[in-house]
Amino acid sequence: MLNTETQYRLVFCTNSDIQLTTLLNGLNNLGFIGNTVFSSNAEQEYCAGDTFFQSVTFMGCSPYIEFEPPPQLKPDGVADFCFIRVLATKEANTSYHAQQLKNLTTLPRCEHCRKVINDWSTRVPFLDESWAFNCPSCDKVLTQADLDWRKASGSGNLFIEVVNVYLQEAVPTDVFLQQLETISSSLWQYFYTNSNIKKHLLDSQ
Ligand SMILES: [Zn+2]
Repeated sequence: MLNTETQYRLVFCTNSDIQLTTLLNGLNNLGFIGNTVFSSNAEQEYCAGDTFFQSVTFMGCSPYIEFEPPPQLKPDGVADFCFIRVLATKEANTSYHAQQLKNLTTLPRCEHCRKVINDWSTRVPFLDESWAFNCPSCDKVLTQADLDWRKASGSGNLFIEVVNVYLQEAVPTDVFLQQLETISSSLWQYFYTNSNIKKHLLDSQ
């Protein structure tokens, strides 16, 4: 995996039964991904494809974005160019921030009553395990899937990262979200983060 520790990114996530290769073929056919940068069993890294700018809109004054990998880039080298990484995890509903929820500074909302859970951080010791607690507002039992991280985190078994774009600078088009849905027969969400998913959560085959 290219070294992307602390680098900002836009992440798409979904739960789907499709094979990873089906997703990769779909993204390739759309032109969202281009040439392979590095590929291993656990992660696939690609240059942005020809139609990337039809999939993601850049807000504000058009930023200069480097899309070319530097020459002699190593598979674990620091990646300071914009590229796309596709990841598959072992289980559905895997939280991207599993075992690092402490890094999230956003306050989550309860999915049921939509109230912000101000004291969630006091529950952090329990968040990295299989946990549940009662919403302080509506008293419904909450598990990981019942927290809305408001575009700061998400969960699924398939993730697409657009690495080296900044917080809410890059916004996916509705057409692209629809195209993703067509490929996987599932709804996609997206969020922004500067954390890597923990490597052991990824499929190795
Ligand atoms: Zn609630």
